Formats: sequence, C-alpha cells, structure tokens
Amino acid sequence: MNSKSKGKLVLYTGSSGVGKGTIMAELLKRNPNIRLSVSNTTRKPRKGEIDGVHYNFVTKEQFEKLIEENGFLEYAKYCDNYYGTPKKQVEDLLNQGYDVFLEIEVQGGLQILEKYPDVLSIFILPTSIDSLSRRLHRRGTEDEKTIAKRLAEAEHEMSFKNRYKYNVVNDDLDTAVNEVLDILEKESK
Ligand code: 5GP
Repeated sequence: MNSKSKGKLVLYTGSSGVGKGTIMAELLKRNPNIRLSVSNTTRKPRKGEIDGVHYNFVTKEQFEKLIEENGFLEYAKYCDNYYGTPKKQVEDLLNQGYDVFLEIEVQGGLQILEKYPDVLSIFILPTSIDSLSRRLHRRGTEDEKTIAKRLAEAEHEMSFKNRYKYNVVNDDLDTAVNEVLDILEKESK
C-alpha cells in the first residue's frame, strides 16, 4: 500500500500499432508506482485478452448506462466501438498515491486536456506511417479493412500531437521507455 500524497494523472496517447502497449508493459515492470487505468469497451476481446485485466468488456447497453450515470472521466467512439475511462477507479488509485496512466486515443485525450489542463500528457509517435503499417500487419490482429481504417485514423490523430506536452518517438523500445520514465521523474520534482 502506498500512503504518499496524491499521484499524478498521465494522459498517454499513441496511434493503434505504435507500440504504446509494449512500452506500457515495460513501464509497469520498471516503476512500481505506475498503474494503468482499465477501460471499458464494447469491442470484442482479441485472443489472449482477459476481461478485467486488458479491458472491462461490456455491452453497448452497459456502456451507455454508465454514460448516463456520468461514470466516465472521458469516453469516445473509435472505429465503431465505444471506449471509456471509469471515473471511480482512477480517482481511487490517485488517492492511494499512484501515478495513473490513461492509455487512450485522441478524442478522449482532448476531453482530458480540457478537464485537467495540468495533466501530464505524452504522445507516442511512430517513426513513420509506413512503419506503423508494417507493425499492424506484423501484429496480425486485424483484417485489411480494419488496418486501413486504423491507419487513416492514425494520420488524423497525429495531427493533434502538438497539443500534448511531450512527444516520444518509438524507434527503439528501450530508449522510448527510458524517455517516458525520465519525463515522469522530471515532472515529479
Ligand atoms: P484497441 O482496440 O487497439 O485496444 O484500442 C483502440 C484505441 O482506443 C487505442 O488508441 C486505445 O488507446 C484507445 N482506448 C483504449 N481505452 C480507451 C478509453 O478508455 N478511452 C478512449 N478514449 N480511448 C481508449
């Protein structure tokens, strides 16, 4: 348990396939004070994804009910599915002193920047759209049509990168992880 002062809210955005999940997994290993907020989504689980760990997989009706109850810090529709950050979970973790990462796409990110202008915001970039396309194909979790949609979305998302305080290019995993850890340390001073 952690009894220090309130933790930091970190807005962590990057296009689909940019490797932000891989960076995040390393961050969680290397800094025990980091927690990742678990989002609700109406997307179907991918192979290997566990309910309550990777996402809370919910129905459209369940999602819309929580919208009505004002239970989301932010939410967005991305490639035909809803994604949202449950408010209570984030508040509890921040109160326990953890730094809470919101790994979310740009529409939700802009909502967070409006509501919390002091949020620590980090945008993960690919070296190029070509490299993103290669990664998405290599990952193999989406069909061609979905990949094309995600790439178009990625280009649009990247036009918002300057709204984020920090841009980190994921060329080399270790370098990107160290860069994010350095940002956290610098911002905690
Ligand atoms: P994926 O389907 O690849 O898991 O996620 C698609 C996009 O939705 C990713 O950019 C991911 O970061 C984003 N995302 C995940 N959870 C949330 C959330 O709670 N809110 C918003 N706005 N985006 C999210």
